[in-house]
Amino acid sequence: MEAFLCLLRESAWLRDKKRGPFSSLLAGAEMEEDECEHMPQESPREELSQDPVLELSGGLREKEQKTPRRLRLILVGKTGSGKSATGNSILGRDVFESKLSTRPVTKTSQRGSREWAGKELEVIDTPDILSSQVLPEAAAAIRQAIILSSPGPHAVLLVTQLGRFTDEDQQVVRRLQEVFGVGVLGHTILVFTRKEDLAGGSLEDYVRETDNQALAQLDVTVARRHCSFNNRAQGEEQEAQLQELMENVKAILWENEGNYYSNKAYQYTQQNLSLKELQERKVTQDQGSEDVPGEESWMEGLSQIQKESEEAHRRLLGRADL
Ligand code: GDP
Ligand code: MG
Repeated sequence: MEAFLCLLRESAWLRDKKRGPFSSLLAGAEMEEDECEHMPQESPREELSQDPVLELSGGLREKEQKTPRRLRLILVGKTGSGKSATGNSILGRDVFESKLSTRPVTKTSQRGSREWAGKELEVIDTPDILSSQVLPEAAAAIRQAIILSSPGPHAVLLVTQLGRFTDEDQQVVRRLQEVFGVGVLGHTILVFTRKEDLAGGSLEDYVRETDNQALAQLDVTVARRHCSFNNRAQGEEQEAQLQELMENVKAILWENEGNYYSNKAYQYTQQNLSLKELQERKVTQDQGSEDVPGEESWMEGLSQIQKESEEAHRRLLGRADL
């Protein structure tokens, strides 16, 4: 048994090695972080797969057994990158409003879900919460996104348009780490929209051959987890894209032993809102907290935790000047 576990560990190490030098660095960063992303979680038992075949002992079996039934996927990226359209492609129906606009179409996060291959996929679409301009309403939008994706996302889908990875996208990556913590990149998948622009070419070749250094480096940092969507696609083509995305989600689950991403803000939120309350309230940015006693004070608490966490991560990223 011990030998089998060693083999598993070694194969995981080899896979990381193949994927790029930063994957182990990332793990190191998580360990060093006093913010402690990937804090010990009560990976809720009821979320775990109950397949009796997986009762068999063994490292591989144990890991498979930890695959949660409900998977939370949060979409982030700059306005117009195609977050809402990608959310709709994942859900297989139009849930989020998606249209061409330089300004965010919606100012609040929204959630939609579907059953897929025995899993419940919960998709959280966000507005422009990671913009480089720190808008006054941004902090409230961030809190709302945290509440909707509580107790934490299994995967963060960083949406960018194929061929258009700009400085603005780099700012989003920087803000993503400030807002959620550096370790969030260990749960991130690069999602390229407008797949049709590949005109039959392969995404692998595109990413490997890009002369956009920032994009190439980000791809390595997220352990080459990437996929693409043509959000105009339907039927089998749409399903194949989702399958490709879910392969990446599977890789994240494997690497994180089925755990979702967590940080202090998520833990605090989880403590203060029961899952039932979360579902019933369908919290929106604009909803007041007057009629829910105590909510105002815990919102203030969340606000404070988030502020301190952002400052800590900004320092960590060497951006205290911003
Ligand atoms: P968001 O601001 O990131 O939520 O972006 P939207 O989902 O609203 O998309 C912005 C625009 O890009 C809309 O007009 C979408 O129809 C379009 N769009 C998104 N994904 C694709 C895609 O894969 N192919 C094409 N052709 N258009 C897309
Ligand atoms: Mg949108």
